[in-house]
Amino acid sequence: MKNVLIIGGGIVGLSTAYFLNKEGFEVTVIDKGDITSGASFVNAGYITPSHIIPLASPGMIAKGIKMMFNSASPFYMKPRLDADFLKWSWYFHKSSTPSKVEKAIPLIKDINLISRELFTDIKNSGDLGDFQLERKGLLMLYKTEASYLHEKQVSERVAFEGLEVSDLNKAALHQLEPNVNIDAEGAIHYECDGHTTPTEIMPKLVAYLKQQGVIIRTNEEVLDMKSTGNTIKEVVTNKGAYKPEEVVLAAGSWSGDLAKKLQLKLPLQGGKGYRINIERDTGITIPAILMESKIAATPMKGFTRFAGTMEFSGNNDIIRNERVAAIANGAKAFYPDIDINDTEIKNVKTGLRPVSPDGLPYIGKSTRIKNLTIATGHAMMGWSLGPATGKLVSELLSGTKTSMNIAAFSPDRTF
Ligand SMILES: Cc1cc2nc3c(=O)[nH]c(=O)nc-3n(C[C@H](O)[C@H](O)[C@H](O)COP(=O)(O)OP(=O)(O)OC[C@H]3O[C@@H](n4cnc5c(N)ncnc54)[C@H](O)[C@@H]3O)c2cc1C
Repeated sequence: MKNVLIIGGGIVGLSTAYFLNKEGFEVTVIDKGDITSGASFVNAGYITPSHIIPLASPGMIAKGIKMMFNSASPFYMKPRLDADFLKWSWYFHKSSTPSKVEKAIPLIKDINLISRELFTDIKNSGDLGDFQLERKGLLMLYKTEASYLHEKQVSERVAFEGLEVSDLNKAALHQLEPNVNIDAEGAIHYECDGHTTPTEIMPKLVAYLKQQGVIIRTNEEVLDMKSTGNTIKEVVTNKGAYKPEEVVLAAGSWSGDLAKKLQLKLPLQGGKGYRINIERDTGITIPAILMESKIAATPMKGFTRFAGTMEFSGNNDIIRNERVAAIANGAKAFYPDIDINDTEIKNVKTGLRPVSPDGLPYIGKSTRIKNLTIATGHAMMGWSLGPATGKLVSELLSGTKTSMNIAAFSPDRTF
């Protein structure tokens, strides 16, 4: 069987390794870090078939511009004269049309449902031992009529797609979540969604892959890819060089820069998010998005996580204190009895979501470089879509029929 080099050991790279290994490929994963941090560790752990509306939807750019100069706002675009960012913003704007959003919805739903199933299959296989995988749904908690009406409309679209959703008033919400004081008027409950603890799954996945003979090289950075004609001949790192038969680019928010080494265009921006963990009992048992605060709350294994912010300010891990404070205050606005303390705030962590301009991931073989497959750009859904992406890449490399039509995910698409 062919040998495959995967660049990036986030959920996408590791899921790809998981399915390629099952198909008998010889797999090596290279990561510039030690696979303990970044987006795949700080995310809210949601498995979200309900998130069918892409980020690039009508009105988002207007919202972004309105919030642009306020770094405490949940959606923040740092004004900067960076050619890649300006181009990406233009593509994002062009993608934010009702017809493009309508086309994206069934695709996002299909890949989400495939992935949700695969999470269950992985759990049932026992490969990773036991791990938290719950299906309690996702509550969209709202305080205002405007938020309710907005979400009601989204939920009708979600229900039209055949996904389970219900409308809860204040009393019904209290009945469902009795052990925590919630200051909200009600919730839309997306019963189709699930949740997990990423910091539990990621190390288990690494351990399983190593045990299966997958080579995982950490603290090794890919610096260059050398091609002749239409083939990558060598992948150069800070520690050596590799001559793989196939390369999978799954380097998250850094994938665009690496694609440039092969003169490929892969418009991508890192959308920074933050998480705060609370390691005491909060009484929260069902994941919730606090609509007006734009924060996610997840009851994970051993702690509750608050996560939020979509900050386009370049690929960095700079912590903006005003954002962290906004998350803590936003959580308290909905859960008045939960005080996030200074230590919890100090232990905040960030991660970069790899955001494509149209809300669809890049999954597919490059048409120009024949031994390159790209798997990135999942934005706010990368955790949910990791397993499906890995499976699709393994199908592409095995030459079998893909589980769904992925033409729209082509990394060569134009905007
Ligand atoms: C706060 C927050 C909350 C989120 N909540 C959810 C959620 O609830 N549900 C959901 O589905 N998604 C969620 N997401 C999104 C999700 O976390 C990401 O889409 C997903 O983790 C991306 O995975 P990835 O493997 O593509 O990238 P990453 O996890 O970023 O992994 C890429 C890896 O590539 C490595 N790399 C980069 N460059 C190189 C190089 N040159 N050489 C070697 N290695 C390299 C990096 O070190 C990194 O480990 C959230 C994200 C954030 C930030």
